[in-house]
Amino acid sequence: MKKIIISIFAVVLIIILYFLMNRTHREIDTILINGKVYSFDSQNSIYEAIAIQGSNIIAVGSNAQLEEIFTPKNIIDLQGKSVFPGFVDGHAHILGEGGKIENIDLMGTKSQDEIIAKVADRIKISKSGDWILGRGWDQNSWEKKEFPNKTQLDAVSKNNPVLLRRVDGHAVWVNSKALELAKISSLSNNPEGGKIIKDNNGSPTGVLIDNAIDLVNKIIPPLTDEDIERRLLLAMNECARLGLTEVHDMGVDEQTIKIYKKIIDEGKCSIRIYAAIDYPSEAWSNFLKTGPLIDYNNGILTVRAVKLYMDGALGSRGAAFFESYSDDPGNRGLTLISEAEMEKVCKDALEKGFQVCTHAIGDRANSITLDVYEKVLQADKNLNGKRWRVEHAQILSMDDIPRFKNLGILPSMQPTHATSDMDWAEKRVGGERIKGGYAWKSILNTGSIIISGSDFPVEYVNPLFGIYSAITRQDQNGKPDSGWYPAQRMTREEAIKSFTQSASFGAFQESNKGSIEAGKWADLTILDRDIMKCPVNEIYQAQVEMTITAGRVVYKK
Ligand SMILES: [Zn+2]
Repeated sequence: MKKIIISIFAVVLIIILYFLMNRTHREIDTILINGKVYSFDSQNSIYEAIAIQGSNIIAVGSNAQLEEIFTPKNIIDLQGKSVFPGFVDGHAHILGEGGKIENIDLMGTKSQDEIIAKVADRIKISKSGDWILGRGWDQNSWEKKEFPNKTQLDAVSKNNPVLLRRVDGHAVWVNSKALELAKISSLSNNPEGGKIIKDNNGSPTGVLIDNAIDLVNKIIPPLTDEDIERRLLLAMNECARLGLTEVHDMGVDEQTIKIYKKIIDEGKCSIRIYAAIDYPSEAWSNFLKTGPLIDYNNGILTVRAVKLYMDGALGSRGAAFFESYSDDPGNRGLTLISEAEMEKVCKDALEKGFQVCTHAIGDRANSITLDVYEKVLQADKNLNGKRWRVEHAQILSMDDIPRFKNLGILPSMQPTHATSDMDWAEKRVGGERIKGGYAWKSILNTGSIIISGSDFPVEYVNPLFGIYSAITRQDQNGKPDSGWYPAQRMTREEAIKSFTQSASFGAFQESNKGSIEAGKWADLTILDRDIMKCPVNEIYQAQVEMTITAGRVVYKK
């Protein structure tokens, strides 16, 4: 017996030595040393060093352990900086962000006068007749919190049509020239799922809501391939600069997918894209024939989801509620798609292996979405494997909160929406309904995960703003004192996980992404300070030192 044990021991020893010798000084691409590496693995281990070969992590450990085994072509000394699994934005719009960078950026503007001045400046450098486009106004940040009027725009722009999107994209402010070109007059009726706001005399005021926006949008000259490529690159580089390694692009068309592939083939893509196809669209009809595109070019692009809209937004009172808006009696908001049509799309998606991602803000929109998902998924008897998502899940009725966990449906939420909306959201929905609003902790307590994102260009791209909002429920001046409905705050770990692991799960990528472990994609975000330990009010000020996507340094400070 003793002899057998000794010989087994000897064999095992020889095997270990053999592997060690073989591994000793293996040549690899890169080692990162002297870091504080938050791996977010199952033990929440913290390491010093990471070894990268090609586009993958091949080992993690101490400096000594990895230097013992590997001879890297490239050593990156992190000088104590903290390393996180590459941040993911679980819901955003890349092309929209590119447009925001190129057009007039109205984010953060505080008055109509400030906006009119920006439009006037742009007209000076534009040709007569050119469209003047902008995005980001929010009447809730003005002194008089009412929708604007075409007359202010007409004063500076008679010959140029002007279209300014509201911050949430669910309303536009246009001038008379744009209304004239779109043939919108006092005689025009509201399109289904949309509203042409009219004054007491019945003439359009210049504000269009939801589906009425298309009346003007469809006459704006379409973007060329070059326009799209330029905008995608602008936005993706902005993402990499701010530490994002992947974005879930919520609503893409055929042309955008084509250009993504071109950019990727040319090696110009600085982040990964997980795309949801717009419904209805030519792209969706085509993808239903071919099925999903998974891990194109080593996982840089995946197209395996479809994006639906159940309602509008809270800011423009287009979100669908069971009862009237508390500050607009008689208005329950709009649903944008019928249950029957949605059921059809869901069945098609299920059959072809697509994930469904549905925009739902109001309690009624969320309930209907969960009902349709439940009906279609239950017939399939595979409730939990499909990971269908509700985008925003913003104001939920209490009864619906546990349904996410029970049905295996994933809420995809935007922490900065809470801190952007907190000054007026309760006025819209009242003290009772707000309890199910932005209710992160109530959802996490049911055992569900939350996918976090920003919804840029609706909010800023910076994921640290979202992480800070999730942890504090305060604005960047630290207001209100203990946070808005502070019981709904996430812990630091929960917040970071929602922007890494949970977002990766929401894209079926958890075996490749979301933690720093051997075998996973080398997607890393390196910060100048330790956001797990630093004073909480410093979290949003952290600077990105370096962003690594697929083993490649795509941004360096
Ligand atoms: Zn969105």
